[in-house]
Amino acid sequence: MKIILKFKRLLLLIIFIKYASAIEVAITVDDLPSHGDLPNDISRTKIAITMLAAFKKHDISGVYGFINGYNVTDQDTKNVLKLWVDSGQLLGNHTYSHMNITANAQDQYITNITQNEPILRQFMVDKNYKYFRYPYLREGNTKDKRDAIRKFLFDNNYKIAEVTLDFWDYEWNNPYAKCIYKKDKKSINFIKKSYLDSGIAAIPAAQALSQLLFRRDIKYILLLHIGALDAQMLDQLLTQYKKLGVKFISLPDALSDKAYNINSGTIRDTGYTFLNEIRVSRKLHNPDIVKIFYDSIPENKLAAICK
Ligand SMILES: [Zn+2]
Repeated sequence: MKIILKFKRLLLLIIFIKYASAIEVAITVDDLPSHGDLPNDISRTKIAITMLAAFKKHDISGVYGFINGYNVTDQDTKNVLKLWVDSGQLLGNHTYSHMNITANAQDQYITNITQNEPILRQFMVDKNYKYFRYPYLREGNTKDKRDAIRKFLFDNNYKIAEVTLDFWDYEWNNPYAKCIYKKDKKSINFIKKSYLDSGIAAIPAAQALSQLLFRRDIKYILLLHIGALDAQMLDQLLTQYKKLGVKFISLPDALSDKAYNINSGTIRDTGYTFLNEIRVSRKLHNPDIVKIFYDSIPENKLAAICK
């Protein structure tokens, strides 16, 4: 009897551990219709098709792609937005020209957000495009700018799509294009493996920050970009995430987590993820695992590769 009870307890513990490690993640993709360099013979349309096929394979719909209307210049880039919406994904606002708030005035910035809306309406028709992703994750380098933009967004029914799971995925796309051009197989293998490693290592780092700040796992929001390597690796990344117990949720579901109601009030020239902004505003140090994670991103090696 005692042994059976012990066994039951053990079973419960195993189930609890499994449950506790399951996290919820909303995927978002930035810079539609075009991000980063194109490898030979690959079009923007082809990158979108590859990404959309991976989402479909994993039965993920309603993914917000944040657009810069300025880059919709030809049939190839128009196709990206059309295919995206036709396959059940959604579009949000990333400013018209990927504007840097640090280098621009708030009035210009707000005009730039508005300038992006006609194209969003054209492709989204009656669907809700009022989700905003700050380019470079920069939310304002003065209090006036930060407050004015937030006021504009909220007055116009926008929700801010903060980022809470990030591994600098954009760092890999241009080296990948270069190495494809050079047909450098060894470097391409390094690029793919390190992309996946960093994508996976981002999860415990985000969890450590979430536990530090909230003593729980928040609903996370992952940042990816519509780049050539992102598209190439998406299926594998999603497969690995599923194995780790990740459940994919929609952006509105993630934003229903009350953690996202916090305004950290951060005034910075450069961008930080939402969790890091809150951490800094509370004068807390980074957990070791977060430092190790950021140090492990091979940005120098990537920048030097296939030159
Ligand atoms: Zn961007």
